[in-house]
Amino acid sequence: MTKDAGIEPDKIMQEVLTAWRLLFTNNHAEEIKRLNGLEERVFGLEVEHSLICLNETLRTEFHTRPDWTLDVGNIVLNEQMMQGNDLRLVIRVVNFSKNHHFSLDELRMRHRSAMLTFDVIISPLGGPLGWIKKAVYECNECGHRSEIRQRLAREREAPKMCFSCIELFADKNKGALPPFPPRDIKLMVEDCYYEDIEYLNLRQISIDGDGNLMNLGDEKYIGVINDEYVGGLTTGSIHRINAQVSVDHLPNRDFVKDTRRIILLNIHSIEESPFNVSNASEMNIKLEEQED
Ligand SMILES: [Zn+2]
Repeated sequence: MTKDAGIEPDKIMQEVLTAWRLLFTNNHAEEIKRLNGLEERVFGLEVEHSLICLNETLRTEFHTRPDWTLDVGNIVLNEQMMQGNDLRLVIRVVNFSKNHHFSLDELRMRHRSAMLTFDVIISPLGGPLGWIKKAVYECNECGHRSEIRQRLAREREAPKMCFSCIELFADKNKGALPPFPPRDIKLMVEDCYYEDIEYLNLRQISIDGDGNLMNLGDEKYIGVINDEYVGGLTTGSIHRINAQVSVDHLPNRDFVKDTRRIILLNIHSIEESPFNVSNASEMNIKLEEQED
C-alpha cells in the first residue's frame, strides 16, 4: 500500500540499463576510472550522440523520452561505476547528428520536448540560484519518509496524506480506515535534494564563410543550465548548445492560472562553438548596449 515501495525495473528499463552499462564500459572505462579520483562535486561526462544511435534500444528511448533515458544512464554511472565516491557524474550528450540542428528563430510550440542543437550567443541572467529538485517529507505521527520529485518554477508538490499511518491504523483496527486522513507531514528542508541552476538569454547567430558573425537572431530566448555549467559562462560568449524545448509560464504573469506560455530551453549540454568567429568582440558591444 505504501506509495513509494521499491519497483522492479521492467523489461525496457532492464534493456536501457544494460545498454548504458555497455556503452560506458566499452567507451568510457578509462575516463571514469580517472574521474573516480577527482574531488570536484559534479562532473559532466561527454557522450557522443553517435554512440547512443548505435544501440537500437538507447536510440529509440533517448529520442522519445530523453529525460527518463538520461536518468537511467545517470543511475548506472553513479551507482555502478563510481564506487561510492562523493563525486557525481552527469551524462552530457554532445555532437548531435545534423537532423537535430535547428534555428532559434524558427522555434515554435510544436517543437516542444524535441532535443535540438543551436548556435547561439549567450548572456547570463541574474546569476546562479538553486531549486528543490527532490523534496523530502516526514510524517510527524509515524516518522515515515517519502520523496517527491519537483518541477522547476511550479508549485511544490507535497504528499496528500500518510499512507504508512493508514496502514498502521488498519492493522490495529481490523482493516478499518482512519476517520480523518493523516496529514501531519513536514518538509525536511535540510534533507531535500537541491540543484544549482542559472538562466541565460540566448540569440541565434549566423556566420559567413570567413567566420564573420553576420547577425544576431531576431528573438531572444530564455534557457536554463544546471550543475557544473552554472557560473561558468560569460556574456557575449558563443557556443553550440543542445537543448530540450519546453514551455514555461510568462515571467511577469499577474494571475496564477494565466494560460499564456513561452518557450524555455532546457539546456542539456554546451559545446565549444565550431566557428572561429573573428569579429565577436564588436558584436558583444552591440549586444550589451541592447541590454537593460
Ligand atoms: Zn504517518
